[in-house]
Amino acid sequence: MKRTLAGIGCFVAGIAVGAFFGGLVSSARSQAPAKPVAAAVTASDKEGLRIIGFGAHPDDCEIRAGGTAALWSKHGYAVKFVSATNGDIGHWQMAGGPLAQRRLREVMKADKILGVATEVLDIHDGELEPTLENRRKFVRLIRSWRADVVMGHRPNDYHPDHRYTGVLMQDSAFMVAVPYFCPDVPYLRRNPVYLYYYDRFERPTPFRPDVVIPIDEVIDQKLEALLVMESQFIEGGALGYLRPLPQGAAARAARREQARQGFLRRFAAVADQYRDRLIELYGPEVGKKVRYAEAFEICEYGRQPTAEELRKIFPFAPWPD
Ligand SMILES: [Zn+2]
Repeated sequence: MKRTLAGIGCFVAGIAVGAFFGGLVSSARSQAPAKPVAAAVTASDKEGLRIIGFGAHPDDCEIRAGGTAALWSKHGYAVKFVSATNGDIGHWQMAGGPLAQRRLREVMKADKILGVATEVLDIHDGELEPTLENRRKFVRLIRSWRADVVMGHRPNDYHPDHRYTGVLMQDSAFMVAVPYFCPDVPYLRRNPVYLYYYDRFERPTPFRPDVVIPIDEVIDQKLEALLVMESQFIEGGALGYLRPLPQGAAARAARREQARQGFLRRFAAVADQYRDRLIELYGPEVGKKVRYAEAFEICEYGRQPTAEELRKIFPFAPWPD
C-alpha cells in the first residue's frame, strides 16, 4: 500500500510541476515510471475459477487434461488450452502451413467438444526454445486469461518441445505477479496454482500424483474430442505409427475404433497406476470404483493450495465429507 501511494504521489507531482515549467521538466516527467496496472478483479473473486493449460502440440493438453477440462467447463469454470507450437511437422506424409492449418482446425473442433477456448502459437513444431521472448508470451497469455490455475508438462519428458513448454511454464510462475515484468499487460495480484500433467518419466524424479481426477463421467466426451484430431490418431501423426493411410470409410472406422480402445486402455492405466492415491483421496469405496483418471502434480513454484482450495479447484471430484 505504501508503495502504491508513493507511486501516485510521484505521478501527481510530475503533472503539477510539468504544468508550471512545461518543456523544461518534460524529460524528468517521462522518467517517472508509468504505474503498472493489476488485473482489475481476479476471476475467483467474482465468478468461477479460470484455468489455462499449455501443451507443446495441438493435442497434448487434450490428452493430458481433456477430461478434467470438460468437467471444469460443465461446472462453469473458464478453461483455455494453448499449444506452444503449431504442430507443422506432426505428420509422416505432410508438413508446413497446410498441416498447421489442418491441426488448428482439428484442435479447435476438439476443444469445442470439451467446452474450452483454444489458442495455437505460431511457432514451428520441434523448434520451441525457452527464450525470454517466449517467457514473455507465456506470461502475457496467463495474465490475459486472468488465470487462477496454470497447467503444463514437467520439464523432464521425451520431446524437446514438451520439456521447454514445461520450462516456460515454470519461468512464468512468480513473474506473472511482478508488476514491472511485461507492464503492458495487467499483472496478476497473486501467483496462480501451477499443475503438471502426469507422465511416465522417472529421471530425475518420477511424477507425483498429488491430485487424481476421476473422468468416468466425461470419458466419451474426451474420446470424441481426441478422435476428431484425425491427422494424429487416425493417420498416425509424426512417426506414422498407423501407416499406411486407411482408405475408405470402413478402414477409417476400424482405425477409429482401434484408437478409441487404445485411449480407453491408456486412461484406465492412469487410474490403476494411481489407485492407492485415489483411495487415499476419496476413500476405498469410491477410489476402487474409478475406471478412468487424469493426474496432476502441484508445482512448487506456484501458489501452494490448501486442502480447501484444492476442493474449490476440483469441485466435481468425489471428496469425502
Ligand atoms: Zn506433444
